[in-house]
Amino acid sequence: MPDTHTILIRENSPLRPYNTFGIAAHAARFTDIHSTDELRAALKVQTQPLLILGGGSNILFTRDWPGMVLRNCIQGITEARKFKNRIWVRVGGGVVWHNFVLWAVGKGYGGIENLSLIPGSVGAAPVQNIGAYGVELKDVFVELEAIELATGKRFRFNRPDCRFGYRDSIFKGPEKGRFCITSVTFSLTTNQHRLNTSYGDITKTLETMGVHNPTIADISTAVIRIRSSKLPDPAQLGNCGSFFKNPEVERAVLEPIQKEYPEVPHYNLADGRVKIPAGWLIQQCGWKGKRVGNTGCYEKQALVLVNYGGATGQEVKNLAFAIIDSVEKKFGVRLEPEVNILPTEASA
Ligand SMILES: Cc1cc2nc3c(=O)[nH]c(=O)nc-3n(C[C@H](O)[C@H](O)[C@H](O)COP(=O)(O)OP(=O)(O)OC[C@H]3O[C@@H](n4cnc5c(N)ncnc54)[C@H](O)[C@@H]3O)c2cc1C
Repeated sequence: MPDTHTILIRENSPLRPYNTFGIAAHAARFTDIHSTDELRAALKVQTQPLLILGGGSNILFTRDWPGMVLRNCIQGITEARKFKNRIWVRVGGGVVWHNFVLWAVGKGYGGIENLSLIPGSVGAAPVQNIGAYGVELKDVFVELEAIELATGKRFRFNRPDCRFGYRDSIFKGPEKGRFCITSVTFSLTTNQHRLNTSYGDITKTLETMGVHNPTIADISTAVIRIRSSKLPDPAQLGNCGSFFKNPEVERAVLEPIQKEYPEVPHYNLADGRVKIPAGWLIQQCGWKGKRVGNTGCYEKQALVLVNYGGATGQEVKNLAFAIIDSVEKKFGVRLEPEVNILPTEASA
C-alpha cells in the first residue's frame, strides 16, 4: 500500500498551464494522480475544497482555487471483452480523449470517430456526456468506475445510473464533486460499423476529400478538418469550446420568436419541446466578433468566448452573463453556461 510519500504535492501552484482558457489562477495545493492508490493516498492528506481536474478544457477559474487540485493522469487502454462484432475497451480516466479516438480508429474500432479532436480527458467525458456531429458518449458507454472522494470507496456506474442527458449526467448535477472517475468502459464495433455522416458538413467535407465509401478513419479525418477550420485552437487563443448550452424550450417560447424572425433555426425534440442554437440567439444580439477588454465572442462562432491574452476569469464570466442577460431581454430565453465556472459558491 503506497503512502503519502508517493505523491508530490505542490503549494501555490499555477493553474494556467492546466486550463485551456489560459487563465492565470493558482491552486493552494496541487498533485498529479497516476493510480487509484495514489488517489487514495492524496485523499488522506487532502485540503478542502477538492477539485478533480482533467485537461481543464471545460473549466473557467474566476479566482484562485482555495483547496487541493487532483489532476487525473491515470493511463491505460485495455481490450476487456470481445464479442462477434463488438469489443469492450476499458480506458484510464487520465488518457487524453483524442488519443483514445486515434487509438480506436487505428485499430479499426468504430463508434467514436465523430468525437475526434474534442479536448480533455476520458475521465471527464461522461461528466457532461460529450457530444459532436450526431454522436454522444452515451451511445458507446458501458460502465465507469469511480472513487468516492469522502471515503475512498470504489463504485461502478452503468448507463442508467449515470442519467445522461444533453451535456449532462449525475456527475454534473446531483453528484457533482462527489467522485473521481478512474476508468470508463466503451463498446466499439469491430466490423459492420454504423457510420454517421449526416450531421454538419461531414458529407460535404468527405466529397471535397474525394471519398465516396468512407471508412471510420475518413470520418475522423473529415471531423478533424471541420473542427480545425471552425474552432479556435486553445494553444493559440484561450477558450473552452461552446461556452453555452443550446436552450431546450417549450414550443410556446419559440412561437413569438418565429413571428419576428421566421428564419430562426430550431430542432424538434422527442418530448415536444424545441432546441434553438444558442449561437444564433447570441449573434442576433450583436455579440459575434465583439471584443470586451481582453475577452470576447469568437468571430467565427458566437457560442465560443475567447481570451485574447491576459483576461481574468472574472472578465470572461462578466461577458458571459452580459450575453445571458441580453439574450433573455431580447428573446425571453435564459442561456445556461456549459462551462464549469469555479470556484462555485459551495466550493469557495
Ligand atoms: C476547442 C474546444 C472544443 C470543444 N468541443 C467540445 C465538443 O464538441 N463537445 C463537447 O461535449 N465538449 C467540447 N468541449 C468541452 C470539453 O472538451 C469537454 O467538456 C471535455 O470532456 C472536458 O474534459 P477535461 O478533461 O478537460 O475536463 P476538465 O475541464 O478538467 O473538467 C470538467 C469538469 O469535469 C470534472 N472532472 C474532470 N475529470 C473528472 C474525473 N475523472 N472524475 C470526475 N469529475 C471530473 C471537473 O471537476 C470539472 O467539473 C470543447 C472544449 C474546447 C476547448
